[in-house]
Amino acid sequence: MSRYDAWRNRLERIRHEGQYRTLKTLEPTGPVTAKLHGESVLVACSNDYLGLAWDPEIRAAAQGGGSTGSRLISGSRPIHRQLEEALEKRFGRPALLFNSGYQANLAVFSTLAVTGDQIASDQANHASMIDGMRLSAAQRTVFEHARPETIPDDTTLISTEGLFSMDGDIPDLTSYPTEPWLAVDEAHAFGAIGPQGRGVAAAQGIEPDVVVGTFGKAMGGSGAFVVGPPELKELLINAGRSFIFTTAMPEPVAAMALASLTRNTREQRERLAHNAAYLRRNLTQQGWTVLGQHHILPVVVGPSAVDLSDTLFNRGVFSPAIRYPTVPRGKERIRLTVSAAHEHSHLNEIASAMGVPSNPER
Ligand code: PMP
Repeated sequence: MSRYDAWRNRLERIRHEGQYRTLKTLEPTGPVTAKLHGESVLVACSNDYLGLAWDPEIRAAAQGGGSTGSRLISGSRPIHRQLEEALEKRFGRPALLFNSGYQANLAVFSTLAVTGDQIASDQANHASMIDGMRLSAAQRTVFEHARPETIPDDTTLISTEGLFSMDGDIPDLTSYPTEPWLAVDEAHAFGAIGPQGRGVAAAQGIEPDVVVGTFGKAMGGSGAFVVGPPELKELLINAGRSFIFTTAMPEPVAAMALASLTRNTREQRERLAHNAAYLRRNLTQQGWTVLGQHHILPVVVGPSAVDLSDTLFNRGVFSPAIRYPTVPRGKERIRLTVSAAHEHSHLNEIASAMGVPSNPER
């Protein structure tokens, strides 16, 4: 008997279920290239949708130190104010920073929905939203993916993503009920889609009650924010536990985020859309069924996703299999993501590494 037998047994169960995960250390050699286990690979799974993680001005902006405390004690800095003001200018409504999108979603759902509220959550919502709802005293129902007609009548808060992270599709927010509050997680769309990169809701002319955006994806940095009416910001400052009880965003992270707002251009967004359409067309012509509409290209192959990922790696392309519980069993997939920094030659290489489906009617 060892002190850690119970933990080892759990690991054994995870292994037995084929769900064991390991960390892969990538050493980037450029915006879309890296060394993995000593091998050069073309990266086709990064969230750095515009290549901004390599932008020299953003990297140079990373100045300052730790914030020494939570925002409400010793941790609020001028750079936080500047960044929130820049976001407020962009969105026209108050913004509040969070260390991550995960923490932003925890705060949004655990704070806004109280006993008696009814949250309707899209079936494909990200774990961070689900965990926020689990911390809330409200009831939760799950509605069919991107089908607002399945949202129950007594719903008080609707939760959806703008660009879905695992299915790559975009809901038609104009067809969602307007009575309940609407919270849209724009993690994968902020910086990449819509006017000034404000996301899917802005692209569709919708102003949701709550918008969550992140700096860790198209903005090439880290951290997140929530935008909404003044009451939302005030409430999150006063009652959002994942805002109150954590050390404020480090200054270099906030400075990078601020720089990324000015380094994010329409040309890059157009190039991203073009690259996504190009790869999508090539894969479709090769016989693959590709889900989604924009720069996330999921190819659902079932449990053989792991083998396909190994094949890709052997052909110099890195895109790990997305497995249960991130996606439902049987819906395992390769989730290719495109960057504005991919050249056509890179996209051709990805398409060629994918080859053709072994079972064309899949
Ligand atoms: N929301 C969605 C839809 C996401 O995909 C992610 C990250 N994968 C998050 C929130 C969490 O954001 P962060 O990485 O900043 O914690």
